[in-house]
Amino acid sequence: MGGKDLKFNTKAIHGGQIPEKAYGAVMPPIYQTSTYAQTTPGGHKGYEYSRSANPTRTALENALASIENGTHGLAFGSGLAAIDAVIKLLEPGDEVISTHDLYGGTYRIFKKIFEKYGIVFHFVGMRSTAAIQSKINKNTKLIWVETPTNPMMGIIDIKAVANLVQGKNILLGVDNTFATPYLQTPLDLGADIVMHSATKYLGGHSDTVVGALVVKDKVLADRLYFIQNASGAVCGPMDSFLVLRGIKTLHVRMQRHCENGKAIAHFLRNSPNVEKVYWPGFDDHPNHDIAKTQMKDFGGMISFIPKGGSYEDAIKIVESLRVFTLAESLGGVESLAGHPASMTHASIPKEEREKSGVVDALIRLSVGIEDSEDLIADLKQALS
Ligand SMILES: *Cc1c(COP(=O)(O)O)cnc(C)c1O
Repeated sequence: MGGKDLKFNTKAIHGGQIPEKAYGAVMPPIYQTSTYAQTTPGGHKGYEYSRSANPTRTALENALASIENGTHGLAFGSGLAAIDAVIKLLEPGDEVISTHDLYGGTYRIFKKIFEKYGIVFHFVGMRSTAAIQSKINKNTKLIWVETPTNPMMGIIDIKAVANLVQGKNILLGVDNTFATPYLQTPLDLGADIVMHSATKYLGGHSDTVVGALVVKDKVLADRLYFIQNASGAVCGPMDSFLVLRGIKTLHVRMQRHCENGKAIAHFLRNSPNVEKVYWPGFDDHPNHDIAKTQMKDFGGMISFIPKGGSYEDAIKIVESLRVFTLAESLGGVESLAGHPASMTHASIPKEEREKSGVVDALIRLSVGIEDSEDLIADLKQALS
């Protein structure tokens, strides 16, 4: 079941799914097997070895394709394994343009792994497309966009970037981890590849590490599938099951993440103890108008700087929180607080980090789906 005929909430539950054949199980079973019996060499039922394909993973991959309005989904062992597969489409000498306000692990795999294989990475501000344009040359093969950006909540105009590369033999990849397809579907805006750390909102319960790619072109899907199978960083059956289960409540969780996010963004903005709040839902956010058109709502991710804040103040605040848990990661039902400079973004040099605003005092919140009154009370006590 699936296709563009169904609306999002229905697709989140039924997209790409068919009832299990043996007993009619409503949820696809966890096919915890590495191999499959053959009647004669090559005589199998579509599965021969679980690196190449596994029925639970197939169910997840079909669901991913459905909710992102793509034709093919690929599930990996982590978000970074998914990014790794995308960069393996490239050859030495090829160039990538990405945003300097980027997930730390993405920056690390680009700079510390792939640069030594001769791939060239440019990091630019992507608030307008001018900086991207200035780096495009005949070697440019990929633009890698993250929007909203992590942790500065910058908004990049996906359609404008897609228009820029149209007809140029340049792929556009979008890390859709923060927004999720509930809020935005980059393939509909002209992107070629959507990537997820399904560890975050898609899984939604902080209980697994999974990555995903979705594309809408068979040739590109085949190339990525070849890399996935050849490199082997696949998602296991149990993890596939967990993300599949998570996706079934994605829309209701996202509604609450957005509601709570809005309440907390406004609370922080009105707090005398807060200097600056980064959230795309504010009217005066630099790209609020683009956020309003390309996203359905503004999500549950917020960053802020405490008044007169130092590194030490930020640490003290995150240590004082009681309902928010101080932890890496995001997108789970529970609220988390993080300190990018020492945690998620520690792998980016301070100088590079501060160029995009990731200062020592910055605190990032992943607002969960608890009662917003309790979350606000918690922030109030920690800030004072
Ligand atoms: C977490 C994250 C990743 C990396 O995903 P893993 O599942 O941790 O490998 C990539 N991009 C963004 C925006 C993330 O938040």
